[in-house]
Amino acid sequence: MRVAIIGAGAAGLTTAKHVASSNMDLDVFEMNEELGGTWSYTDDVGEDRYGYPVYSAMYKGLRTNLPKEIMGFSDFDIPAQENSYLTQAEILDFLKLYADTFDLIKYIKFNTMVMDISPVDDKWKVTTVFKPTKKETTDVYDSVIICNGHYNDPIIPTLQGQDHFTGIIDHSRNYREPEKFRGKRVLVIGAGPSGIDLTLQVSTVAEHVTLSHHVPERIKTEYPPNVYMKPDVQQIVGFDKVEFVDGSCCCYDAILFCTGYRYSFPFLSDSCGLTVDDYHVRPLYKHMIHIDRPTMCFIGVPYDVCTFLMFDLQARYVCKYLTGDMDLPSKEEMRLHTEKDVEDRIVKGYTKRQMHRMGAGPNQQAYYDDLGQEANIATIPSVMVKIWDAGVHRLLSDLIRFRGDKYRIVDENNFVQVIN
Ligand code: FAD
Repeated sequence: MRVAIIGAGAAGLTTAKHVASSNMDLDVFEMNEELGGTWSYTDDVGEDRYGYPVYSAMYKGLRTNLPKEIMGFSDFDIPAQENSYLTQAEILDFLKLYADTFDLIKYIKFNTMVMDISPVDDKWKVTTVFKPTKKETTDVYDSVIICNGHYNDPIIPTLQGQDHFTGIIDHSRNYREPEKFRGKRVLVIGAGPSGIDLTLQVSTVAEHVTLSHHVPERIKTEYPPNVYMKPDVQQIVGFDKVEFVDGSCCCYDAILFCTGYRYSFPFLSDSCGLTVDDYHVRPLYKHMIHIDRPTMCFIGVPYDVCTFLMFDLQARYVCKYLTGDMDLPSKEEMRLHTEKDVEDRIVKGYTKRQMHRMGAGPNQQAYYDDLGQEANIATIPSVMVKIWDAGVHRLLSDLIRFRGDKYRIVDENNFVQVIN
């Protein structure tokens, strides 16, 4: 069995580890010059020095929003640290340590971008380009495991009247540091993890920041004194004036969209038979296995999860199946199971955007236990999901202090105000 793994982020690394230890041949294709994916920081936005798209949504000063105790792998914990909420560099170091410990670097082809994947009979033709020389290579694999992340194709809505706005308009994907917002009146749109975190970061230099959103829980927590809440935007009514759905208006110098990302697999040819409807990837059995062509697998599609632990579990599941240690149900059964999952989600009130969401404890644990049971492998211990639940609760109830340390606000005179 020859396996191609796309991406050397946390998902690709743990997949490589399990594929290698299952005695399959593998190549890992990574378009960046280092491993780590999300956790590899670059100042670059747009295109890199070779003229290829930059893969990065990471910004300076990011610290994890989940404690390190649930960010390790099943057999490889994050080493002891003073703080549970680590920096980007600490997580990157951890991923490098993981790759070194399990001797994974030798499998990774860096600076190598996958351009096309197409089925040929029951195999896969994978075409890559080596960015520095632009040399294209095509090779054939028995299986492809897609680990390309899902924070790379930003959703940027167009606001009514947006053409009138003369200030900065950008998406969190291109955000690297707050400096360009110094002294400015900033509107952040979207109150997901990035929207919240960037509101706090930008508020340290901006005159004021407004967080526009429709998430009731976000209003109940405390923010720095120069942060305001508004509902959704109705329209732009002038070169700097924004009207909200409650009829109120305010003026801004910058709009920062924190409106999330869509799933995106630009390298899959149409003949792969995969449909991506912004937030819903089909037809995937258990959010992982391409039902019509089961040697194509996806690691990391579900969100609101114990990230690295789930990638590890999914990779172990996929290896069980690829090595022949476990049979998948028939295509018809897989299809019925997947349709039932969608129906259950609709009954539970999940939106179209939440077809791959795991979220709060019981749902998340049920998914892990199901994979564990079907493949006869260890599930994720329930204590991890309990810590995940507690961590999210802690974050939402005190955005400023949830990491347990003091929050520092630096004003234009470099005066540091510490909120206890
Ligand atoms: P990625 O880390 O995105 O890696 C995908 C890799 O695939 C990249 O290296 C990319 O270069 C490569 N790739 C993509 N396309 C191609 C191609 N065509 N050819 C070759 N290579 C390709 N999770 C947490 O658990 N805790 C947090 O605190 C947290 N904070 C986050 C903060 C931000 C700003 C973001 C964006 C995400 C955060 N996450 C967090 C989620 C994070 O994405 C996951 O933790 C995890 O790193 C995702 O790993 P991945 O391997 O699935 O994807």
